[in-house]
Amino acid sequence: MSEENWHGLKVGIEIHQQLDTKEKLFCRCPTESSEDPKLEIKRYLRLKRSEMGEEDRAAKEEIERGKKFLYKYYDTTCLVEADEEPPTEINKEALKIAIQVAKMLKMIILDEIHVMRKIVIDGSNTTGFQRTALVAVDGEIEVRGEKIGIGTLCLEEEACRKVEDGEGYTVYSLDRLGIPLIEIGTKADIKTPEIAKETAKKIGMILRSTGKVKRGIGTIRQDVNISIKGGARVEIKGVQELELIDKVVEYEVLRQINLLKIRDLLRNRNAHVLDQIFDVTEVFRGTKSKILRGKNVKAILLRNFSGIVGMEIQPGRRLGSEFADIAKAFGLGGIFHTDELPGYGITAEEVKTLRSVVGALEGDAVVIAAGEPQRAERALRRILERAKFCLIGVPEETRKANEDATTSYLRPLPGSARMYPETDVPPVLSWDYLDVEIPELIEERARRYAKLLPEDLASEIADSKYYGLFEEFSSSILPTIVARVIHVIPTELRRENCNVDVLNENHFRMVLEMIKDGDIAKEGAETALRALIENPTANKDELKKKIGSRSDVDNFIQKLVDEKIGLIAEKGENAFKPLMGIVMGEFRGKVDGKIIAEKLREAIARKLKEIEPQNS
Ligand SMILES: [Zn+2]
Repeated sequence: MSEENWHGLKVGIEIHQQLDTKEKLFCRCPTESSEDPKLEIKRYLRLKRSEMGEEDRAAKEEIERGKKFLYKYYDTTCLVEADEEPPTEINKEALKIAIQVAKMLKMIILDEIHVMRKIVIDGSNTTGFQRTALVAVDGEIEVRGEKIGIGTLCLEEEACRKVEDGEGYTVYSLDRLGIPLIEIGTKADIKTPEIAKETAKKIGMILRSTGKVKRGIGTIRQDVNISIKGGARVEIKGVQELELIDKVVEYEVLRQINLLKIRDLLRNRNAHVLDQIFDVTEVFRGTKSKILRGKNVKAILLRNFSGIVGMEIQPGRRLGSEFADIAKAFGLGGIFHTDELPGYGITAEEVKTLRSVVGALEGDAVVIAAGEPQRAERALRRILERAKFCLIGVPEETRKANEDATTSYLRPLPGSARMYPETDVPPVLSWDYLDVEIPELIEERARRYAKLLPEDLASEIADSKYYGLFEEFSSSILPTIVARVIHVIPTELRRENCNVDVLNENHFRMVLEMIKDGDIAKEGAETALRALIENPTANKDELKKKIGSRSDVDNFIQKLVDEKIGLIAEKGENAFKPLMGIVMGEFRGKVDGKIIAEKLREAIARKLKEIEPQNS
C-alpha cells in the first residue's frame, strides 16, 4: 500500500539492544542470567517530588496503583543492583561499542558523555530511575532508497527482568538489571508499516555487525512510536518479534481510525459519562458468576454508550478491552460491560437489576469491576476518564505489544521532565575512544560469502556468531562443509531438542581441524558434534575413537566379507544388500553411505573372484 493510504502515518522506532560485555554498565557483575536466587528484597515505589520536576501523570497513576515490588537477589549480583551501594564509573568496553555503532550510523558523537537519571515508575529499577548517557545525535541510514534520520543513541542500563505480576505486587529479578544497553531512536521519518519493519531490521543488522551484542529472545526489543492525522502519539513497548513490526503499525493505525469513528458516533448520539461510582455489591449477592461472587462490585454509567463498548477496534479487541486493560493495570482481573451481558455466569435478571440500580436507560452502557473496594474504585475512576476521552479522540499513551500484534494499554505517556543528572558517576570524554574501527557490515559479508555458498546460507553464515571460523577454514575445507559444521548441523540438532548451546567456538574449531587433517571424514561431523554435546570436554583422540576413520571402514568390510564368505558364495552380488545393512549399522552418520557402498561392492567382487575357480 502506498503512503497516501496510511492517514498521514508517522512512525519512529526505538531499538534497545543488550551488549555482550564481560561486566555490567555500573558494576563489575557478569552479564549472564542467573538461577537460584539467594534472597528476596521488598520495596514500595518511592518518588521524591523534587526529582520528578512537575507532576508526571504516568508516575501519578503508578503510585495510585499502590503496588509492592519484590526483587530476586543472586550470587552474581551485588549491592549496586540492590541500590545499597553507589555505581562505579561507566563500563569502557560498552562505551566503545556504543561509539562504534554511532559511527556506523553516521552520527555526531558528543565530546562529553554525561550520565543522567531517567525516572522509571514501574518498579523495574530498584533506584526508581534508569541511568542513561546520550552518546551521539543526528545520524541517518538508508532503507529501500529512503533516508531515515537517527535522532539519538544512548548507552543505558537494562531494567530488571519481570518474573511475576500478581494482584497488588510484581516480582522482578536483579540478574538482568545493569546489563549495558544501546538505545537507538530514529526520527519520525517512517511513513509506511513496511519501511518500519525494514528500518528495524537494518539497525539490528548494524548492531550485530559489531559482534558484541547479545543474541536470543529478549536481548533486542523494539518500541514503536506511532501517530496518524487527527490521532495521537502512542508509544508501543516491547515488540520482540521483528517480523511483527509492520502488523503492529497497521493495527495501531486501525485502532486510531476506529477510535475516531467511535468519537464521531458518540458525539452524534450526545453521549456523556456520569462522574459517579456506584456500589452494586448487593445486585450480585447470590450470583453464579465466580468472578463476582463474594466480592465488592462497583459500577460506572456511560450514557448513550450502548453497543459501542462492544465495538471492535483491533482484531479480537473491543473498546471494552481498553477499559479492561486499565483494570488489569490497577491489579484487578478485568471488567464486565453490558454490551457483553448477560453471560459469564451473569443472568439477564441480574443485568436488569444492575441497570435499574444505576439508573441506566435503554441506550446506556454500564461497566462493572470487582475486587478490593479501594482498588476497584480507583480503577473505575480511571476508566471513567478514559471513557470521557472517547468523545475527544485518541489518548496519548504507552501501550504494550501483544503476541498477535495487537496492543494493550500500559500507562499514560510520561511527561518530558523526567531526566536529571546522575552525580555519582563522573562524565567521560569521548575522544579517547574515537579511533575505534568500523567493522564490516553483515550484509557486505553476506555478499562476499554468496560467491562460495548458496545465497540464503551465505546470509546465515555471515550473521552467525562463528563466521570467523568460516573465514579461517573455507580456504582449506570446502566452504559448504564448513557451513554445515558451524551452522547447518547445529540447526538440525536444535530442532531435535539437542542442547546445542553447550557448544562453543573451540568445539567447532576442533571438528573443523580434524576434518582438515583427515582425522575424520566430513560425514563424521554430525557424530562428532553430538559426542561433544554429550561430553563437552572430549578431546580429539576420544572423538576419533567414537567416529572411526576410513581405514576402519576398510578393515570392517574386509573382515565382514571374510566371515560371510558362505553367503557371498551362495548369493553372489545379491549379498550386497544384507551386508550393506551390517556395515551401515556400524558407520551410519560417520562415513558417507555412497563411499561405503562402493567399498563394499568392490570387496564383494574381489571375494567372488577368489572363490570363482572353486565353483567351476
Ligand atoms: Zn553488581
